[in-house]
Amino acid sequence: MPEQGRCTVVVGCQWGDEGKGKIVDVLAENVDVVARYQGGANAGHTVTVTDDEFILHQIPSGILHDGKRCLLGNGVVLDIQRFFEEYDALRARGIELEGRVGVSLRAHLLLPHHRVLDQMAEDSAAEKIGTTGRGIGPAYEDKAGRRGVRVADLGNPERLAKRVAEALEHTRRRLEHVRRAPPPDLQAATAAALSLGERLLGLATDTGPEITRALQDGRRVLLEGAQGTALDLDHGTYPFVTSSNTTAAAAATGVGVGPTAIDAVVGVVKAYTTRVGEGPLPTALEPVMDEKLRRLGGEFGATTGRPRRCGWFDSVLTRFAAQVNGLTGVAVTKLDVLDTLPELQVATAYRLPDGSVTESFPADTWALSKLEPVYECMPGWEEPTSGVRRLEDLPKRARAYLDRIEELTAAPVEWVSVGTQRSQIIPIG
Ligand code: GDP
Repeated sequence: MPEQGRCTVVVGCQWGDEGKGKIVDVLAENVDVVARYQGGANAGHTVTVTDDEFILHQIPSGILHDGKRCLLGNGVVLDIQRFFEEYDALRARGIELEGRVGVSLRAHLLLPHHRVLDQMAEDSAAEKIGTTGRGIGPAYEDKAGRRGVRVADLGNPERLAKRVAEALEHTRRRLEHVRRAPPPDLQAATAAALSLGERLLGLATDTGPEITRALQDGRRVLLEGAQGTALDLDHGTYPFVTSSNTTAAAAATGVGVGPTAIDAVVGVVKAYTTRVGEGPLPTALEPVMDEKLRRLGGEFGATTGRPRRCGWFDSVLTRFAAQVNGLTGVAVTKLDVLDTLPELQVATAYRLPDGSVTESFPADTWALSKLEPVYECMPGWEEPTSGVRRLEDLPKRARAYLDRIEELTAAPVEWVSVGTQRSQIIPIG
């Protein structure tokens, strides 16, 4: 019997945009299967291959390596039209996709009415969440409300029509409640999305059994998360979160394997912190420095182009992420972005309004906007790192910074990324 394969989860440890796409692309070279386990087209993973930049929204970042099987698990909400736009665009750029992409039969479809409901929710919310407006939240609501339409339904036209009609009727009632009418072309838009159903069925698989077989055959599997720990529906800064569980335990549920199938969990952390959308960011920078770091790091959303707010490295959050994800290792990205800064701050704890100090990430989201981070000041290295490929060649102060991140996060740093290119990576240990 072949030796059991290895299953690794890659998870974001901040508010998303940590550079997971780049890390998955690097790790994918040595795996056979890459599977996305949650989220939808709200994700935007940017991967650079030499002079080509690819922004992947739904298809796993492993797709840019020849021959790797790429799966979308049951935990994903699949926007069928955007999925095929992405699929065809990759094919047009010369990526061979035949037989490489699989979609879970259990995945829920994101249909046009979800976008309508998303817009309605964002327009009428007392407190804005700052979603991407792509219908992700309403699609997960339909899933939890047992009104969802799944890939498996596409194989039975009668049942499909019935389930879609129910979902549209529910949408109509929701809109009526806020005195709105469904857009006149909603039926036609839904029909257009579903006209791709047969094509999608051609890619359908049951990801759990497929991944289990791959592992039994000794193959290596990578489970790719979207967004980040602080956006997890349960563990993030609720309600300023995404509508799915982003954390590592959800990887098992989101593709259909047991938690014991997972061998390693790599947490991706940016060498500083960013946040897009609404909600507290404890280590937020003052405007001049915020602008500077945004420019240095190119911190604009890959999906929406929105500017990301920037902050110092927050080890209270990354320590929490290490705990909730059970991290076995960390990949630090964008170290090079800090190359020119003379001084860096690292948050080690939070001071609460009553003067007490905590090293724990509070469950009360509103407390987060009232506290003051306790900073430790570290000298910058003020030398370029983007050409460095070995840990020992990094400037001493950059190594000290990484050592401190490792110590405070309480998980070993295994990779350091110093640029967008595949080659710009420092493996450690
Ligand atoms: P993801 O959603 O977590 O994959 O992150 P995004 O793709 O939204 O954002 C990460 C951005 O940082 C992308 O534009 C990457 O090309 C870029 N990036 C990733 N790693 C590095 C790095 O080490 N250095 C620099 N300068 N950019 C990086």
